[in-house]
Amino acid sequence: MARRKKIYEGKAKILYEGPEPGTIVQYFKDDATAFNAEKKAVIDGKGVLNNRLSEYFMTGLNQIGVPTHFIKRLNMREQLVRQVEIVPLEVIVRNYAAGTMSKRLGLEEGTQLPRPIVEYSYKDDSLGDPLVSEEHIAAFGWASQQDMDDILSLALRVNDFMSGVMYGVGIKLIDFKIEIGRVYDGDFQRLIVADEISPDSCRLWDIETGQKLDKDVFRRDLGSLTDAYTEVAKRLGVMPKNSTPITKPTLIN
Ligand code: 5GP
Repeated sequence: MARRKKIYEGKAKILYEGPEPGTIVQYFKDDATAFNAEKKAVIDGKGVLNNRLSEYFMTGLNQIGVPTHFIKRLNMREQLVRQVEIVPLEVIVRNYAAGTMSKRLGLEEGTQLPRPIVEYSYKDDSLGDPLVSEEHIAAFGWASQQDMDDILSLALRVNDFMSGVMYGVGIKLIDFKIEIGRVYDGDFQRLIVADEISPDSCRLWDIETGQKLDKDVFRRDLGSLTDAYTEVAKRLGVMPKNSTPITKPTLIN
């Protein structure tokens, strides 16, 4: 069998040419990076967990009519997705202050925001994904006004869905990041949710204890990242409740 053509390798995923035109195989690596790749580790099992969790969230979104790139999971680490043109923005939705918003505005982490706040960063690792305003986005032509209306609506629908799903298993959705892809159906273009939705791109806190169940465990050295992601997967029923973490214990202490 011919080797698959690699299209792109990012920090956490590899994209290969898919079996049909317009499809891509998305492979989830075990690599974890933080602070614009200044901190790196390989965490056994992370890719498997994120593949399953992203499948779970994207499938749910598709089922409630929020369009995503997800087609089907292929195996432990790979999923088939629609090929998209990525809009060069990170779309961040926040329900509670944390991370860079807390730093920027001097808000204590966990402070509930008056309403969900949507922010945009320009996707450029060499610049550290800087926060940008809609003025920048319009002036530099990264997205049209119609695109921005659609992106805001997608972001808020994802937020409602994700907040509800997580609340149902005792987890508070603090914030998350999504990426948006452009697809062409004949003469029409539309925007869909792309990339991944996983604990790598969300902040998830246990409602009772405040325990962090997301990538901050790695960023801030708070314990085992696979244990945290496995806990999320178990609560959602993505993994059997009595199972142990998918692989060996994590390398992070
Ligand atoms: P913050 O701006 O506080 O660093 O991040 C806000 C939210 O977006 C967090 O849930 C964080 O995980 C997510 N996020 C922001 N930038 C990135 C990124 O470059 N990669 C990933 N995976 N998530 C990000």
